[in-house]
Amino acid sequence: MKEEFTRFENKVWLSSPTMHGTELEYIKEAYESNWMSTVGKNIDEVERQIAEKLGVKYAVALSAGTAALHLAMKLAGIKRGDKVFASDMTFDATVNPIVYEGGIPVFIDTEYDTWNMDPVALEKAFEIYPEVKVIVVAHLYGTPGKIDEIRRIADAHGAVIVEDAAESLGATYKGVQTGSFGSFNCISFNGNKIITGSSGGMLLTNDKDAAEKVRKWSTQSRENAPWYQHEELGYNYRMSNVIAGVVRGQIPFLEEHIAQKKAIYERYKEGFKGLPVSMNPYDAENSEPNFWLSCMIIKPEGMCRQVRGECEALYQSEPGKSCPTEILETLAKYNAEGRPIWKPMHMQPIYRMNPFITREGNGRAKTNAYISGGSVGEDGRPLDVGMDIFHRGLCLPSDNKMTAEQQDKIIRIIRSCFD
Ligand SMILES: *Cc1c(COP(=O)(O)O)cnc(C)c1O
Repeated sequence: MKEEFTRFENKVWLSSPTMHGTELEYIKEAYESNWMSTVGKNIDEVERQIAEKLGVKYAVALSAGTAALHLAMKLAGIKRGDKVFASDMTFDATVNPIVYEGGIPVFIDTEYDTWNMDPVALEKAFEIYPEVKVIVVAHLYGTPGKIDEIRRIADAHGAVIVEDAAESLGATYKGVQTGSFGSFNCISFNGNKIITGSSGGMLLTNDKDAAEKVRKWSTQSRENAPWYQHEELGYNYRMSNVIAGVVRGQIPFLEEHIAQKKAIYERYKEGFKGLPVSMNPYDAENSEPNFWLSCMIIKPEGMCRQVRGECEALYQSEPGKSCPTEILETLAKYNAEGRPIWKPMHMQPIYRMNPFITREGNGRAKTNAYISGGSVGEDGRPLDVGMDIFHRGLCLPSDNKMTAEQQDKIIRIIRSCFD
């Protein structure tokens, strides 16, 4: 029998907004000065402060990270039928904007060192599709990917990098902020991100023309004329000055949030000693993540049997072993929120026909065989890295308002899954 615990009285969240009071003052300022639209001091200030913080010349505040990614795709010049290389294990907002512009995402497998785009697979992809000109890279869970290698490959092939730093605001690689490496970069202020505006996003670039285009496109592409004159397709993607007030109030707390998230990560790491698990890895020599979400991965020898269909999962409990499904169900039972790893894009029904490139080359045949009939590797494990991390990994409650006592209980609950 596994140990029983009492339920958390208040739900322990994966990652929820953490407000400080300053947000309300800036909202009030917008209200009292009647700047309640998509123009105002809060917008100007968040653009200035974020550009300065990230070390980029221009920041354009938008309604969402997804809107920023969409306009980045336009800037990158994606046309109907163009193939675009993209991170595979990520939130689908990374890749959907490629499709908005008629592009075809080609998914690049993940590496085990940082859980981001594998440069070896990317190199392979250029052997197969040398014509590709755009690469969309995400930094998963706030951990910077292998930026130098990816940039070297991009430069060698004359490709543009779009960085999806939605999850990694404040994380650095070799002392430089993520969101500043690509030609066009995106961050998000969605409600569960490291700092939030309740919604919102930003496009970052050093290219003045690009920034001006984004300002124009995001406000319905008005031309300079006495009436509404339009030469280009427009969008209603600008950030509201009220939302910008929330972001403005949050920016001073970014470093504090990162420190809290890091402490959570370290406490989990310590608490899981002796279990057949490890935390989501990062390159400690070159990078400093923002630790947005703490995740764990179960070693193959610690995995009980787990099978996932399209929309449901089954597992068989075993002494000394567990699996993401068992741990997530157990956390939910006690009123704590975990989450599976982002299900890789190449496994998603909507993208099942898209190319998927692993270190070995075309990964599609093997993947589809696995999905349709459980064909797996010799040791019974899935056949590509993204699928493997999805199979064995999960995101843990990482809310920065979680107390040490609550987290210790979460650690004990997870340990009990392995009894
Ligand atoms: C949150 C997120 C986005 C989208 O940001 P929104 O502001 O919610 O539109 C894009 N990519 C990744 C990896 C994200 O986590």
